[in-house]
Amino acid sequence: MSYAVKNTEVYESGQQKIRWVANKMPILNKIAEIYRDQKPFSGYRIAMSIHLEAKTAYLALKLKELGATVYLTGCNPLSTQDDVAAALVKEGINVFAWYDCTEEEYVNNLIKVLECKPHLIIDDGGDLVHLLHTVCPEFAENLIGGCEETTTGVMRLRALAKEKKLKFPMIAVNDAKMKYLFDNRYGTGQSVWDGINRTTNLIVAGKTVVIAGYGWCGKGVAMRAKGFGAHVVITEIDPIKACEAIMDGFDVMPMDQACEIGDLFITVTGCKDVITKRHFSKLKNGAILCNAGHFNVEISVEQLEQAAVSKRQARRNITGYTLENGNEIYLLAEGRLVNLAAGDGHPAEIMDMSFALQALCNLYLLEKGKELQKNVYAVPESIDKNVAFINLESRGKTIDVLDEEQRKYLSSWDL
Ligand code: NAD
Ligand code: SAH
Repeated sequence: MSYAVKNTEVYESGQQKIRWVANKMPILNKIAEIYRDQKPFSGYRIAMSIHLEAKTAYLALKLKELGATVYLTGCNPLSTQDDVAAALVKEGINVFAWYDCTEEEYVNNLIKVLECKPHLIIDDGGDLVHLLHTVCPEFAENLIGGCEETTTGVMRLRALAKEKKLKFPMIAVNDAKMKYLFDNRYGTGQSVWDGINRTTNLIVAGKTVVIAGYGWCGKGVAMRAKGFGAHVVITEIDPIKACEAIMDGFDVMPMDQACEIGDLFITVTGCKDVITKRHFSKLKNGAILCNAGHFNVEISVEQLEQAAVSKRQARRNITGYTLENGNEIYLLAEGRLVNLAAGDGHPAEIMDMSFALQALCNLYLLEKGKELQKNVYAVPESIDKNVAFINLESRGKTIDVLDEEQRKYLSSWDL
C-alpha cells in the first residue's frame, strides 16, 4: 500500500464524517449488497480523481469492498479534507491528496494515482484523462475505460474524441438523467448556498444576486436564491436559456450591466473570463464574488490580483481586494468551487445517486468495455432507470405500471 496525506493521525474525525454518510447513501449500499459475494472488481485497479471528502470516501470503500484496489486523489487543490484522507489510509486505500496543495503537487498526486496503471478511471473534470494523453500515456496500457463525473469534463472528452485523439472509451456519467437533473440542479442549488452562507454569515434576503449561466447548476442556484428572498439577475449567452430564466421570474441582462447592480455574484458557466477587469471597477463597494463552475477562471482571479492596490484576508475563505477607486470587493474560496472549497459539497443523498451511477458504469465497463470504441458513451438507459428505481425503493415509494392495452395505445398512431 502507498499514500501521501497531510497527517495520518487525524483519522478519527474523518471516520466520524464517513460514518455519518454511510446510511444516507442507500442506493450505493444496495449495489454493494447485490455484488458483495461476487466481488466483481477483484484483481482490478481503479484510479479516482474526485473531491476527496466523506461521500467520495464512501464510494472508494464500497469499490474496495467489491474487490477493487483503489488509488484516490482529489480533483481540486482546495477540496480535500485531510481527516477523511487519513481515515481512508487506515482502511487500506492508496490516497495521494492534501488540502491546499500547490498546482504542482496537485498534478503530481494525479500522476501518482495513475502510476498503478489502472484498469478503470473515475475522473471529475478531465484532469486524469488529460495527463493520460499528454504527460504519462504509458500508464494507460491496462486501461479498459473510464467514467467522467462533470459537465466540463464531458466537454473536454468530446473535444478530444472530435479530434479522434481519445485513446479509450469514456462514459459521460454527468449526462445521465439521474446525474444532472439532481446533482447539478438540486445538489449545486443547495451546496452553493451552504458554502456561501457559512463563509459569509450574511443575509441573502433583499440582496441582488447575479448568477452567470442558467444551465442545470444555474437553475438550481437561482431557484434557491429566490427562496431566500433575493432579487435574482441571470446573465446568459444562450437566448433560449435566457427566455427560460425570464419565464421562471428572473431578470436577464449582460454582465456589463449586472456588474453595476449586484451585491453577490455566482458564476456557473464552465466558461472563462465571465467577470474580468472591465467589470471590477464598476462593482459596488462590498460586492461579493464566487464561482461554482469549473476551474478558477470564470472570475479572472489573475486580473483581480492585478487590478487591486492591496488585499487582505477578510475572514476564513474570504479575500478582500481594495481597488484604485477605493472600493473593497470580496472573493470567496480563491475563485474555486465555493461549495467544495468552502463547504462539504453536495449532500449525501445527492452523491448517492451520482456515485451509484459511477459504480454501475464501472461494472458495465468491466463487462462490455473491451467491445467499446475509443469514444464517449452515454450511460445505458437501463442503468439510469435502475438507479431511479432503487432510489424510489429506498424512499418507500412505488409508481404505476402500464398494462398491455396502455402500452399498445402509447405506441400506436391510429388512435
Ligand atoms: P450547463 O451546460 O447546463 O450550463 C452552463 C450554462 O452557462 C449554459 O446555459 C451556457 O449557455 C452558459 N454560459 C456559458 N458561457 C457563458 C458566459 N460567458 N456567460 C454567461 N453564461 C454562459 O452546465 P452545468 O451542468 O450547469 O455546469 C456548469 C459548470 O458547473 C460546469 O463547469 C460544471 O462542470 C460545473 N459543475 C459544478 C458543480 C459543483 O458542485 N460546483 C456541479 C456540477 C457541475
Ligand atoms: N476539477 C473541477 C471539478 C468540477 S467539480 C474543479 O474543481 O473545478 C463538479 C463535480 O463535483 C460535480 O459534477 C459533482 O458531482 C461533484 N461533487 C459535488 N459535491 C461533491 C461531493 N460532496 N463529493 C464529491 N463530489 C462532489
